[in-house]
Amino acid sequence: MENMDRELIIRWEEVDPPKVLVRPWKATFENERNGTKDAMEIVLKSYLESDNFIISDYAAAEGLDTTKSTRPFQYLLCGISQADKDRLLECPVIASEQGTVVIAPFSQQMPPFLVSIEGTSCKNNDTGKAAILSAATKTLRGAVSIASWFEDVAGQGAFGDITENLDAKWQMANPETRIGVWNIYTNKMPQNILLADYLDLTAKLRTLTFRTTLNGNGKGARTFECKNCKSIDHPSSTCPFYDIRGWLGPTRDQPEQGNRSERPERSDERRGSWNRGRGRGGPRGGYANKPPSFRNRT
Ligand SMILES: [Zn+2]
Repeated sequence: MENMDRELIIRWEEVDPPKVLVRPWKATFENERNGTKDAMEIVLKSYLESDNFIISDYAAAEGLDTTKSTRPFQYLLCGISQADKDRLLECPVIASEQGTVVIAPFSQQMPPFLVSIEGTSCKNNDTGKAAILSAATKTLRGAVSIASWFEDVAGQGAFGDITENLDAKWQMANPETRIGVWNIYTNKMPQNILLADYLDLTAKLRTLTFRTTLNGNGKGARTFECKNCKSIDHPSSTCPFYDIRGWLGPTRDQPEQGNRSERPERSDERRGSWNRGRGRGGPRGGYANKPPSFRNRT
């Protein structure tokens, strides 16, 4: 929760669950605080078919110039049932005429994405997938220094767990040349680490060489930066946001061009903060989740 009042985050931690974080999609209605809250309330009421919830206000971090700083802020949605929480997290983006609301879990979720591998001839089929998975598994198991660093951070066995549970997904990188990469995921990403640790892990994995037997050597590719959802595992052109029914943002045919909002996304003030100098954007989870950046050991 970049830019938010730290004391407020601590108070939100003490609010009884079930609870989630909600925020508006930037292109619609985020400039005016009450209007934003009202609009989110309408969207959530119609989705949940109930008005049994509370949307908090947000508070900016002390000393922050809110006219210049990056929005959006997160709001806390509480007073909901467990069933409502489950329904909200099942649907990370709710779009309607009144606006578009992005839902995030209250506790930071570390993404399952590990690395994109480029340069092999593994095709987008079962054989290609098996070959890349075998190369990824062998390479990660042999990455002794990364393993020992990560286990210091995340605990004994954490890196081994990651490598036991890999999945691979082919990702189109350039629709014109049909060049793609293989994205490697784990279903055992530890949740007790900081976002900075996760980013360090992905940076280290990008330095590895992934040797296949029959399809050449792959290497870790630069991460993508989806302009829509800020994911690092796909380019804007293949963002799942476009397929959301009622989506009001930029479309696949007319993607968002550059920085047309008033948000200073290109300014250097973002660098060196949570995204640790990796340029603007950066990962915010699978669906623009921008959850708290505090450790969530519970
Ligand atoms: Zn996306």
